[in-house]
Amino acid sequence: MVKAFRPVNLDEALNIRKENRVIPIAGGTDLMVQKRRWAGLTPSFEYPLLFIGHIEELRGIRIQDDRLRIGSASSFNELLENTLTPSVLKDAISGMASYPIRNMATIGGNICNASPAGDTLPVLYSLDAVLILSSLKGERRIPIEEFIKGPGITNLKDDEILKGIEIPQYDFDLYFYKKVGIGKVTSLSKISFLGLANITDDRIKDIKVSFGAVAPSVVRSREIESRIKELDREEIVKEFNNIKEMYSELIAPIDDARSTAHYRKVISLRLLEAFLTKEVQ
Ligand SMILES: Cc1cc2nc3c(=O)[nH]c(=O)nc-3n(C[C@H](O)[C@H](O)[C@H](O)COP(=O)(O)OP(=O)(O)OC[C@H]3O[C@@H](n4cnc5c(N)ncnc54)[C@H](O)[C@@H]3O)c2cc1C
Repeated sequence: MVKAFRPVNLDEALNIRKENRVIPIAGGTDLMVQKRRWAGLTPSFEYPLLFIGHIEELRGIRIQDDRLRIGSASSFNELLENTLTPSVLKDAISGMASYPIRNMATIGGNICNASPAGDTLPVLYSLDAVLILSSLKGERRIPIEEFIKGPGITNLKDDEILKGIEIPQYDFDLYFYKKVGIGKVTSLSKISFLGLANITDDRIKDIKVSFGAVAPSVVRSREIESRIKELDREEIVKEFNNIKEMYSELIAPIDDARSTAHYRKVISLRLLEAFLTKEVQ
């Protein structure tokens, strides 16, 4: 039998988290697959489960202090249906899993699972998402790129729960999002790519570029972005090989069941090229 807690609110959940070694479970779409056993047997967990998907304080999508605030237990279908959700996040979500899975799967679970192929992650990196982590001591805020340390590894402390995600309200002139999966659009990513840009008077005023599934965690470089900023369209074409070289050093994919490292590297750099030399032009 699986032992579990079902707290009525966040405070109770945080108390349980502090007093016991537990595994938070929101939609369970990652955990139930990771911990499955032979047909007919219940999944096996090392510690009791802490159900959090129903907790009111972890739900809801709203604007607060000029920022979009998304509760960690918001399901993908809730995000798709909400008018406040940025289009680029909706695009990424609509290519994820199937409708029933999207009813259960949460954005907080996608973040805390910290898979290099997590499809919301390149979007959240590019949108400068900040995570709100709650414990009985209070809340702390941390940029997503400091939270995710590697495949399945995060900065989450044993007494914390991811409460929500804050996203500054950006407007972009253009965005270019591509997910390369296996055949079906709803399969896990081999590669994903997101480019956002603001262009004024032919010059790039702001640019954000993120690659998913090509390294232990999302590849985004503010340093390279700042070198692309202020280039005009002609300069980008001239500088493209240098820019590609800089990204190439950061892209370190692996061979796995879904793809090869070589394919991932070649295609992700082609997507960069398509963004910078076609979309931005
Ligand atoms: C058939 C299928 C297809 C899928 N397709 C895709 C896809 O296309 N793209 C993709 O990115 N993913 C996909 N997934 C993976 C999965 O659905 C997502 O990663 C989902 O977002 C996980 O959310 P969850 O609420 O189900 O997480 P859970 O399984 O509940 O939890 C995942 C991890 O996060 C932790 N956790 C969850 N919420 C919190 C919180 N608030 N605070 C602290 N820790 C927390 C849990 O302890 C666990 O370690 C697929 C899964 C299945 C089964």
